[in-house]
Amino acid sequence: MTSQDYIQLEEQYGAHNYNPLDVVIDRGDGIWVTDVDGLHYMDFLSAYSAVNQGHCHPRLVKKMQEQCAKMTLTSRAFRNDQLPLLLQELKNLTGFDRALLMNSGAEAVETAIKAARKWGYTKKGIKADKAEIIVATNNFHGRTTTIVGFSTEEKYKWGFGPFTPGFIAVPYGDADAMHTAISPNTAAILLEPVQGEGGIIIPPDGYLEQIQRLCCENNVLFILDEIQSGLGRCGKLFAYQYENVNPDGLVIGKALSGGFYPVSAFLARETVMEVFQPGDHGSTFGGNPLGCAVAREALRILVDEKLAERSFALGSYFRAKLNLISSTAIKEIRGKGLMIGIELAPEAGGARRICMALKNEGLLCKETHDTVIRLTPPLIIKKKELDWAFGKIKKVFG
Ligand SMILES: *Cc1c(COP(=O)(O)O)cnc(C)c1O
Repeated sequence: MTSQDYIQLEEQYGAHNYNPLDVVIDRGDGIWVTDVDGLHYMDFLSAYSAVNQGHCHPRLVKKMQEQCAKMTLTSRAFRNDQLPLLLQELKNLTGFDRALLMNSGAEAVETAIKAARKWGYTKKGIKADKAEIIVATNNFHGRTTTIVGFSTEEKYKWGFGPFTPGFIAVPYGDADAMHTAISPNTAAILLEPVQGEGGIIIPPDGYLEQIQRLCCENNVLFILDEIQSGLGRCGKLFAYQYENVNPDGLVIGKALSGGFYPVSAFLARETVMEVFQPGDHGSTFGGNPLGCAVAREALRILVDEKLAERSFALGSYFRAKLNLISSTAIKEIRGKGLMIGIELAPEAGGARRICMALKNEGLLCKETHDTVIRLTPPLIIKKKELDWAFGKIKKVFG
């Protein structure tokens, strides 16, 4: 079968909820993927940063195979031997007291929302069903009905209402607007430290510290969604570590399993996590031994291969190079670590067109919104491989 055959089957039998680039991948190795026609591409998306460790990392392949043959799913009706070790390792790595394991990122965000609301009622004394959570405009936290309900992107919401009440969106990066929006009913502020899907948007320096201060002054939980920005992507273990803040809750996913298996988690301090009682919340697959074993290995790889440090150094190197491209099509290059966005000038003809041209050069990138190209290679990438990619990008803009 050729690429065209696969594409036709997918178009015929699948839901058309995505608009993928027409490359049909059947193999991956590190930063490279191969399509069914045998063409090689450098992956500059990393499955939206789920594959920070690189495709089919040999240590993850081995661990997954071992754990598969041993035990995959106990459900939380019983205990297993992998979850406790992952919980302990998460505590040691991140400093958060406790973790609650889920599968997809959106589920972990939902978990954070439930925790924040229940904390609001049981600890802050908010009246029943009045709790509010403040989010940012241009946010992306997933695709459940509750979560798209507080998106400000019409495309994500249209046709899916009615939505869950209790969310307020204020402009991202504007601490004064946040201040104004806080009320006695505010249970939490939920933010991405860098907006990924929103177009690699970096808030002003000091923004997170200002938000932290508002949270402390108003007895509001500070919860960050680092599903995409975290686990090394932005050049630190977590993007919030560029500032002196101490969030009450953190949502992680994506690279938590190196792309092998959906694993997500809500991490929180004791005072927040203790609101959950037996029966309050759960998931059949959440915390399963296969996912936990994979996540443990994925985290060890992150540490052993110094992926956050690599991301920091290589990100600065690569952004400096990209800034040397002089093209009227480029409006701005921005990023932290290897989470980089190229914002195109309005007259450049759209990011999709550039992504197609890059694909023809063997570089797989994905546009986010119409005018931003996201550059997020696996964090195992080497300098000379970045140089290769740079050559392709330069050529396409030349
Ligand atoms: C991808 C993403 C999510 C949703 O994760 P899924 O696993 O797709 O449900 C939530 N928040 C952010 C910041 C993300 O990038």
